[in-house]
Amino acid sequence: MGPDTLFSRATYPPSSHRLLCLFRHLAFCLVLSCPAVGQTVRLPDLVEITALDSTIHLDIRYATGNNFMRRALYDEARAFLQRPAAEALVRVQRKLTRSGYGLLVFDGYRPWSITKKFWDESDEEQRKFVADPSVGSKHNRGCAVDLSLFDLESGEEVEMPSDYDEFTIRASPSFRGGEPAALALRDLLRGAMEAEGYTVNRGEWWHFDYKDWELYEILDIPFSEIPDR
Ligand SMILES: [Zn+2]
Repeated sequence: MGPDTLFSRATYPPSSHRLLCLFRHLAFCLVLSCPAVGQTVRLPDLVEITALDSTIHLDIRYATGNNFMRRALYDEARAFLQRPAAEALVRVQRKLTRSGYGLLVFDGYRPWSITKKFWDESDEEQRKFVADPSVGSKHNRGCAVDLSLFDLESGEEVEMPSDYDEFTIRASPSFRGGEPAALALRDLLRGAMEAEGYTVNRGEWWHFDYKDWELYEILDIPFSEIPDR
């Protein structure tokens, strides 16, 4: 077992408390699908993306009314990821800069209670596209990012085959209709992200999961309580 194993002997509570803690952890796992007991779990290490690379642009839609919920759900327009995922994103940014583009981040780590709000306030049709809070989202683990590209010269967001959070066939990363230039930019983003350990979502060209997502637990820490690192 590594030093950061969740249930290592050195950090586990005394035996009188042990069964109760184990029971509570298993109950939490049943509800939220967190990593199994005994599996090495990485402790949360959320870092602010723009603190690692200030050339990455943000358009945090859930801090505005410009999203499918039509109201602001975040108090602050900030984006966080677990450190290895954030460092991989910085490498993507550096590569894309050579092609004349930069990353435009819409969302990163998302507290679990926000995912629950999405679910509670969605109708049956919208629920096909939002994460079930009983399972949780890779965003809740700090290992998913929603993003597009901006043009380095103009600073403007590029045209992609669909809008962000557009729940249509055009959002699929395998959609072949539309403007060739938009398809090429979508594929440029995907290629750069996949080279650094991210996988694109099958239905959303803008959503990428980082490879180590299973090693992190579902979190419900507000942005304001994430320490500066
Ligand atoms: Zn997403």
